[in-house]
Amino acid sequence: MDIYARFGVRRRINAAGTLTRLGGSLMPDEVLDAMRAAARSSVDVAELQAAASRLIAAHTGAEAGLVTAGAAAALTVATAACLTGLDVARMERLPDTRDMPNEVIMCRTHRTGYDHAVRLAGAVIRDIGFNDLGTGAGVRDIEPWEIEAAITPRTAAFAYTATPRNMPRLAEVAGVCARHRIPVIVDAAAQLPPTANLRRFIAEGAALVCFSGGKAIQGPQGTGILAGRRELVAAALLQQIDMDVRADTWSPPEELVPPRALAGYPHHGIGRGFKVGKEDIVGLMTALERFATRDEQAYLAAKEAILADIARRLSGLNGLALRRLAAGETGRMPLLELRLDQVALGRSAVAVARALQAGEPAVHVGEARLDDGVLLIDAAALSAEHAAPVAGAVRAALTQT
Ligand SMILES: *Cc1c(COP(=O)(O)O)cnc(C)c1O
Repeated sequence: MDIYARFGVRRRINAAGTLTRLGGSLMPDEVLDAMRAAARSSVDVAELQAAASRLIAAHTGAEAGLVTAGAAAALTVATAACLTGLDVARMERLPDTRDMPNEVIMCRTHRTGYDHAVRLAGAVIRDIGFNDLGTGAGVRDIEPWEIEAAITPRTAAFAYTATPRNMPRLAEVAGVCARHRIPVIVDAAAQLPPTANLRRFIAEGAALVCFSGGKAIQGPQGTGILAGRRELVAAALLQQIDMDVRADTWSPPEELVPPRALAGYPHHGIGRGFKVGKEDIVGLMTALERFATRDEQAYLAAKEAILADIARRLSGLNGLALRRLAAGETGRMPLLELRLDQVALGRSAVAVARALQAGEPAVHVGEARLDDGVLLIDAAALSAEHAAPVAGAVRAALTQT
């Protein structure tokens, strides 16, 4: 049965990568089976999160971890944790941060639309440096002295957006921040694969790292991971989970919530709206184990083979130049670049992308370089049987009169 058809919704072939708006990645049966089993029993969510914490710690090298409602939600509870620490009175006040250090420093070149997730906790973003490399006006990125100069008694955290070839180097940023005891939060939502990145940002000095659970990890789409320092993860947990507890009957997991470190238990926190259900937590744990232990070379080879198949089916088409980019070149997933000769074809890449989405089957391609006449194919959410329909749809969109 096509469950989407039953509700009047079209299925789409996602050749654009693990985009959240297209449903992220596709879940393996193993993850679905684990979620189905998890749905059948009651459990203490805090105890389950403590087990997730141990698993996340084992695979990231962090002290602790938390399953969040996505990487964006992880950014919010991470920021909240940096604003409050284990101070329950501060937790109660968020997002009002008037009487606490509330500035989060960011390099101007790292700002994204996900800034909103940081501001949501009550933080004020203070951005620094210039974008000379982006504008072509100069040759320098932000330097350590500029970070040093931006840190004040109002600083609560430093937020860093990871990309494959990021500047300034995280280790350099973390070094400056460590001298001032400022935690560095890394948005690494889409920085997997490579699997090695599960550990990389913690190893380079991040206090907290956010990953999306519904992208490369292939967990439930609505999940994410926050990994990092134990006390900060504890602060995030307390501000995310349901806190309708009695102090004299609740037994929180001591490894995460140290009994004597708190003045009392906080009420529902700023992250209460980002609750994660038991099925999602178990699904993410199962997916993380699978992702962290899979044969990455075999996985990438299978994705390369899908791209090669699509390229073979499109070769020789007038007005189309094909180029394959290996994972080593992109720093992440292998890609197939379709460069259109928009004049010869008499249509723009934007028009082709639109036609592909409207077609039957509907196909979505990567749109980051449409303005240069390039469609990108990412096979993260494709399997072998998608090669023929994707190639057929592109061929039709380029040749239809
Ligand atoms: C996808 C993404 C997010 C949000 O991840 P969700 O899991 O969808 O919440 C945040 N930051 C970056 C850089 C992303 O690519």
